[in-house]
Amino acid sequence: MTNDLSGQLGSVFGSFFSSAIVQLILYSIVVYLFVVWLAAAYWAFRDMHDRTENPVLPYLASALILIATPFLFVLGVVVYKVVRPAERLGDVYERNLAEEALLAEVEQIKTCRGCDRRVDEEWIICPWCRTRLSRVCPNCERLVGLDWTLCAWCGNDFERPVVAGRPVVENRYGAPAPEGTGPAYQARPAGSTVTNRNPAAGG
Ligand SMILES: [Zn+2]
Ligand SMILES: [Zn+2]
Repeated sequence: MTNDLSGQLGSVFGSFFSSAIVQLILYSIVVYLFVVWLAAAYWAFRDMHDRTENPVLPYLASALILIATPFLFVLGVVVYKVVRPAERLGDVYERNLAEEALLAEVEQIKTCRGCDRRVDEEWIICPWCRTRLSRVCPNCERLVGLDWTLCAWCGNDFERPVVAGRPVVENRYGAPAPEGTGPAYQARPAGSTVTNRNPAAGG
């Protein structure tokens, strides 16, 4: 008798638990759909926020998902993906930045002040119009700007006072020749003219 009772109770409990589990599963699915639905609405809001500066459009995007109900919101997501702006604002800014950098690079290309032709950064003179472009530091032999008062590389002062009575001669570097720097600037000794080797002129 007790065995029968417990068997009946067991089957009743069994059916109860099984139906409860089914209900739980159904309930969980509905809750899950609700959560995903709300998350999709939030995602649409954030996504539209990233794609437009318009303050109203993100709300419209999430409203589109909410109107589609928890059971059809996937269709709302598809519609939203079709109509949303193609590019994120961050990408647009990045592209603009890259374009600006390219423009700046183009503007940095050195041109001759005299003839406006494109010249190399390491040239010291324009080969077409002979405009001086830059000069070489006589101390460290690096390229320096024409308007620099001293060498940024080695600190050599270009504005050193010129020795009285001596004309300012531009050496091959385009800088005033410093006192006694190499044989190129030393005065040629008197009478050291080049010997005339032409036999016809020989006496
Ligand atoms: Zn030129
Ligand atoms: Zn220098």
